[in-house]
Amino acid sequence: MSHTPNLLLKNVRPVGNDFDGSEQLDVRIVEGTIAEIGNELNPKENEESHDAIGAYLSGGWMDMHVHLREPGYEHKETIKTGCASAAFGGFTEVACMPNTNPPIHTRDVVEFIKKEAESLPVEVYPIGCVSKEREGDSIAEMGDMKEGGAVAFSDDGDPVFNSQLMRVALEYSSMLEMPIINHEEDLKLSRPGYMHEGKVSARLGLDGTPGIAEEVMIARDILLAEFTGGHIHVAHISTAKAVDMVRQAKADGINITTEVCPHHFDLTDEEIERRNFDTNVKMHPPLRTQEDVDAMIEGLADGTIDAICTDHAPHAIEEKEVEFIYAPNGIIGLETAWPVSVRQLLKTGVLDLDTLLKKLVVNPRKILNLDIPKIEEGATANLTLFNTDEEWTYDEELIKSKSTNSPYLGKTLEGRAEAIYNKGRFVINEV
Ligand SMILES: [Zn+2]
Repeated sequence: MSHTPNLLLKNVRPVGNDFDGSEQLDVRIVEGTIAEIGNELNPKENEESHDAIGAYLSGGWMDMHVHLREPGYEHKETIKTGCASAAFGGFTEVACMPNTNPPIHTRDVVEFIKKEAESLPVEVYPIGCVSKEREGDSIAEMGDMKEGGAVAFSDDGDPVFNSQLMRVALEYSSMLEMPIINHEEDLKLSRPGYMHEGKVSARLGLDGTPGIAEEVMIARDILLAEFTGGHIHVAHISTAKAVDMVRQAKADGINITTEVCPHHFDLTDEEIERRNFDTNVKMHPPLRTQEDVDAMIEGLADGTIDAICTDHAPHAIEEKEVEFIYAPNGIIGLETAWPVSVRQLLKTGVLDLDTLLKKLVVNPRKILNLDIPKIEEGATANLTLFNTDEEWTYDEELIKSKSTNSPYLGKTLEGRAEAIYNKGRFVINEV
């Protein structure tokens, strides 16, 4: 990473705003602002030059659902390593979930995170807790946290299980014009639940968590969003029925949005059997069936699913290298979101490049009421440089996260984020 307020990007193909990726141009950045977009621009004094050789350039990507683990679990990840992982994956901004220790439930924790990220090229937006101590009983100081820089509220890691609390949270948050992001899980229906409940769990003799555990909570949240007028954002959606419910709720005019993780539009519960109980395919919500995977892709295509997020959830090796049922849920995802999206959505023709980028650049920020980066002269340079066809292998030594719990480890992938530019800094990713 270098401090690079002045940079000339040669031979990029801008995509977004007035550009459709077909034209090869040069982009000059002066003092962190896009100063000039044109043909055959020449480097000036005190200006770094980078030849992108035809790579695409879009607004910086945002992941609205990551776990950075700091404060409290720095052996899994820190704000610094999580942001390095984000940059490697092409993300210039992330929103981090509050299941830290202490949880992000007061303004001072929000401010601590903002301060830790201040000098990093990736911007971090804290998501505050819905409940005090993230215990699910009484409402946290939402207004205070908003003033400190929180962009949404969630008790993620756990659902807001108490319906009365959810009602109050939706009422307060709508006054603040912020969303409530719920980890949709009826804990009485889901537990113990080590994987998706279905044919594979029956064959393996493992207790499963059924899709209905997610759908019951979404049904409740749709009703409460309708009743309060608040904005409910369904976290990491994973079942076909859930996608249908959100689609219908949107058609009914309810203030609802949702997101999906790449593993949920790529992998099924059969991976657990195929990989002989590899704990890197254990997450929550669990990998579900092919029918569910197909529904995620359909939901992305028809706009029901607004955003792609990773639910980046680092865990240390010693925590994951235990028996399947004892392993913690979650995988790292920031570094592989792009190639998995390219394979499943772009190369299959499900989404065109512009629509795919909307789910990484525009929609997450719309949901969180943040400024959307633009590719035009005079705009702040918040950019991702990427390709859709470079083959590379996701080797352990490339991993920037402090943890390595990924089902894509060792896999050959296609499409890569080559660099990001944000906050006056240019980060080139080497493979
Ligand atoms: Zn969650």
